[in-house]
Amino acid sequence: MKGLHAKMAWKVIKEESIWASFMARKYGSGSNRNKSSLWSSLLPIINDLKQHSLVMVKDGSCNVWDTPWCIPPIPKTSNTPYDGSLRRLLESVSIKHRIISSFPPYAKDKLNNLSLSNDRDQWVWTGHNSGEVSAKAYRDSISPYDAGNHSWSKIWLKVIPRKLSMFIWKIKHGITMVDTFIQSKGFHLASKCRCCIMPSPESADHLFTSSDLASNIWSWLGNLFKCRNRFYNLQDLLKFWIDKSSSASQVGVMKLLAFSIGLWEIWRIRCSATYGEEQSITLPHKKFFIFHTLRIIRLRTASFTPHAEASDSDLVLLSDLNIMSRPPKIHRTSFMSWCPATNGVTVNLARSRNKVAAILRNSKGGFISAKLLSLADSSSLHFLSSAINSVISLVHSSNLILTQFQWDSDFGSASTKMWIASFSDIPAITIGKSSNSSARLLVQDWAGSSVRPGSLTKRQLPLSVFLSLERDKDNLIQDLR
Ligand SMILES: [Zn+2]
Repeated sequence: MKGLHAKMAWKVIKEESIWASFMARKYGSGSNRNKSSLWSSLLPIINDLKQHSLVMVKDGSCNVWDTPWCIPPIPKTSNTPYDGSLRRLLESVSIKHRIISSFPPYAKDKLNNLSLSNDRDQWVWTGHNSGEVSAKAYRDSISPYDAGNHSWSKIWLKVIPRKLSMFIWKIKHGITMVDTFIQSKGFHLASKCRCCIMPSPESADHLFTSSDLASNIWSWLGNLFKCRNRFYNLQDLLKFWIDKSSSASQVGVMKLLAFSIGLWEIWRIRCSATYGEEQSITLPHKKFFIFHTLRIIRLRTASFTPHAEASDSDLVLLSDLNIMSRPPKIHRTSFMSWCPATNGVTVNLARSRNKVAAILRNSKGGFISAKLLSLADSSSLHFLSSAINSVISLVHSSNLILTQFQWDSDFGSASTKMWIASFSDIPAITIGKSSNSSARLLVQDWAGSSVRPGSLTKRQLPLSVFLSLERDKDNLIQDLR
């Protein structure tokens, strides 16, 4: 439903059909705002889409206020004497004269550089590379992709048998055939967990977290890995064993594997008690279970190469378990040298959370200045635009000519390129992380310090950045030879 609403909302924003124009005019503002239930479900989506959109100005038909022809858009204030299109504003000297003084500098710049054509203004949504909202693209853009969610890819690691990965996946999606699941599908059945001495209904939560069998398994594995062994519910359990285990480290992978063995063992014993002849469970023997688990871990991680160095506590654990610690994979970075534009100022940008570092250099690699920016973390588009705006004004105020922005893949996505194309005529290129290392080092150093935002002179740079700048320059001279 959200996806469909998004498509409708997008039509309203673009006023593409008679219906969409009607909706926008009737409900868009004023007292009718709350009168339609469809409109009240569209409104938050419209706002969200607008936050992540921009207008490629062609005929200037978009409204001056609140539309992203410049970013961030200029909000309309109640005492604004003008409420019309960009085109009318540009064509009327008197209107322009009256209101342009209230524009922020970046909007004035943009306005002065606009040349109108006859095509209709084009709305571009940065949530998808096509610039268009489709039901699917919108759903994808709002589905949470946080660390917790992302970590689920770990269950498909090669070291975990596919059968077990599938099983964890089913548990995660709540589709294991426990009694409460079968009941929820409309089948009448009396539920009794077979894995406890005290009877209680069998839910996935109970069976895998707090049944007698589960408590035993998690306490054994907790002791084996010297970690937590009591859990409140299934979510808590999964969060601990999956989210907190790093798939890059040897011990992390061992934990993930041990956890999947534990879950599988609970399920296996539960099933044999349910369908087997005995009708009651036989708890596994602790020593046997641990021996069996360690044997599988040794076998399955024999050819695993970690990507991260083992921590001190991991090394102790490995030696206690009598498992050899494995050296991490060596990453060979191919060093690409930095290269500025042939004239004017080249700006390298790097970002760490809400902090941005900008390094300004001339075409010979000479350092001009560096700027540390701390920004309000709103949408990525607004974040990037305020960073660019302040760098542009810094360069202009020192009467230099800005020729190129450079950043690496951590800084801007593909859709931001589209944005920069519409925003300014200064080209931005994505360079390799190693080529952008001076800016990266600067922002990393800053993220860990209490230095205030502002400009830095060469003397104020951290040593690592200073050396990196020198190296960039040296490489440049060698390249020129
Ligand atoms: Zn039970």
